[in-house]
Amino acid sequence: MEKFDTEIYSKKVLKTIRKYRLVENGDKIFIGLSGGKDSASAGYFISKYVKENNVKCDIIGFHIILGDFIPKDVEKTARKQAEIFGIPFKTIELKNLGIDMEKISKLPRPVCSSCGTIKRYLMNKIPREMGGNKLCTGHHADDFIVFFFKNILGGNISWISKFTPLLPGRNKSIARIRPLFFVGGNENKKFCDALKIPYIEENACPYISIKKRIDKRREKWYETVESISRWQPNFRYQMMNGIISLSSHLYSNLTEPKECKICGEPTDGEICAFCKILKEIK
Ligand code: AMP
Ligand code: ZN
Repeated sequence: MEKFDTEIYSKKVLKTIRKYRLVENGDKIFIGLSGGKDSASAGYFISKYVKENNVKCDIIGFHIILGDFIPKDVEKTARKQAEIFGIPFKTIELKNLGIDMEKISKLPRPVCSSCGTIKRYLMNKIPREMGGNKLCTGHHADDFIVFFFKNILGGNISWISKFTPLLPGRNKSIARIRPLFFVGGNENKKFCDALKIPYIEENACPYISIKKRIDKRREKWYETVESISRWQPNFRYQMMNGIISLSSHLYSNLTEPKECKICGEPTDGEICAFCKILKEIK
């Protein structure tokens, strides 16, 4: 098996943080730690960069507890990761916000898509309300390459303007930072293994069997990206640079988000996807 070079990997991630100015003095950055390998890697490098470059900013790790159906180990692992990185850690429990995933799972819509909507909504709202100006996630090159193809196929071209290492904040949407923009999911896994950073394998959710069925095609996409990068070693790097350049051309076409008529959070329509779900379970 080919040996994994942690030095080369680290250089790629640190270069992304530096080149795209993901971290600056005065920032208050919230890192969404899911307990998985990707956000663990993102958290590790943002914390390392801030310490080594003496950047005067706040970093906070946070984890959304979806409900009792998720093993307690997931939160414990995210907490442990924050401890290793030497950053404070906060949890947000859906239960305490009156959001019942049990009820949501029974709605006639895919539970994974509702869960994604809820997480995206809270990952913007909660850090912003706590004074945060940036949200860091573990999204990586493979995610963006797959999103890219899906948006091209679906004719949703304007969405591609959001695929960049630093997406500036607009109105109530805080800025997004993606330190793993140029590295793949497999590399994140190998890095966490090499440094013995604990993480949860991606099957902690009991809805995984439903997710697996929905995601079968998604998995195929990820396998395809991995397989192309085996015979075209620079594939990810070239694709990501192409996507950045396209996204900067498209950025000016992005429409200003509106405010949801119910909760006031950003949305493209009249009522946000989160409020639509809450309405259905009432
Ligand atoms: P996903 O859509 O599940 O692939 O997650 C995308 C990113 O969102 C991850 O890389 C994390 O940074 C963040 N994230 C996902 N789930 C959680 C969670 N339960 N709590 C905090 N952040 C999360
Ligand atoms: Zn709303």
